[in-house]
Amino acid sequence: MSTIFKKIIDREIPADIVYENDKVMAFRDINPQAPVHILIIPKEEIPTVREIKGEKHADLLAAMFDAANEIAEKEGISKDGFRLVINCDKNGGQEVYHLHMHLLGGRRMQWPPG
Ligand code: AMP
Repeated sequence: MSTIFKKIIDREIPADIVYENDKVMAFRDINPQAPVHILIIPKEEIPTVREIKGEKHADLLAAMFDAANEIAEKEGISKDGFRLVINCDKNGGQEVYHLHMHLLGGRRMQWPPG
């Protein structure tokens, strides 16, 4: 089932898009938890990380990590470090069932997460 992120990909609803290519898109989180909080998503509709298969999705995963590094550099958070998070299902705290990687930076993160 399609989510709000599919509507962002199709430009049916607005988003602050910071990166896009044929495989992935990235836009600012509407409820930022850090000075830089960007969501990196595949254009393909994959609900959770559980559907990821290394062999099938190798190029897509590489594209997501390339995007993360490129955006981190552009946002000026690469040097001091950042956090990448993928929430999965209920215990992971996933709210939107379209795979997405959170890129968080611009402040010191805590560990363990809440
Ligand atoms: P998760 O809990 O990992 O599923 O994260 C979903 C994220 O999507 C949350 O951080 C929300 O703030 C964010 N979000 C939901 N709707 C939008 C939207 N329309 N534009 C940007 N970010 C959104």
